Amino acid sequence: MGEYNFASKEEDEKRGKVRVVNNRYKPSGIFHYISANTPIKNEEGKLMGVTNPRDMTYIHSYGGEGVFFEGLGKGKLLASKCENPDCEETGSIFMPFRIHCPDCLRKNTVVDITDRAKDNATVHSFMITERTGAFNTLPTPIKFVNVEFEGVCTILMGALIRGEPAIGLKVRPIFKTNNPEYIITDILWVPADWPESDLPEDYTSG
Ligand SMILES: [Zn+2]
Repeated sequence: MGEYNFASKEEDEKRGKVRVVNNRYKPSGIFHYISANTPIKNEEGKLMGVTNPRDMTYIHSYGGEGVFFEGLGKGKLLASKCENPDCEETGSIFMPFRIHCPDCLRKNTVVDITDRAKDNATVHSFMITERTGAFNTLPTPIKFVNVEFEGVCTILMGALIRGEPAIGLKVRPIFKTNNPEYIITDILWVPADWPESDLPEDYTSG
């Protein structure tokens, strides 16, 4: 999938890694790479500048959302729920996972909505795009779907990886349970009746 060439295994081993010690990030390894530059010349061959290729490793902290990304690799879709009895909107379930309730600002609890997603998820709307951002790993055209779940007050953006999107289409999630990457593409969507025998490599119904 995609156009991006990942680093070799040897390069990968030297790449910066992060451990957590006493609740703090401890980076080790190489986080910044410099590559050879190239001259920029005008039509007469006069030097106008140089390119400066730089490669850096970004440390993306998940904080309270870690439980959500960890769940995907285990075939679980974990949402969050406001259980504050004093909240005007108590009982709201949020997917995408929200650490705090936007109405009362109290910390939400984690709820498993995997079965709800498998049995009662539909396409609210969709968007097909040929142009992608940098480092895209999804096959183009990308079929983005806004997935609606029964009893959930928000809508999740995802990618339909098989079939064609349509408003109201029943869909089900598939999860990268083999070699999970702990990113949002560990969950993708297929039409509800799509055969298990035709899923992308490493993905299962959970
Ligand atoms: Zn609340």
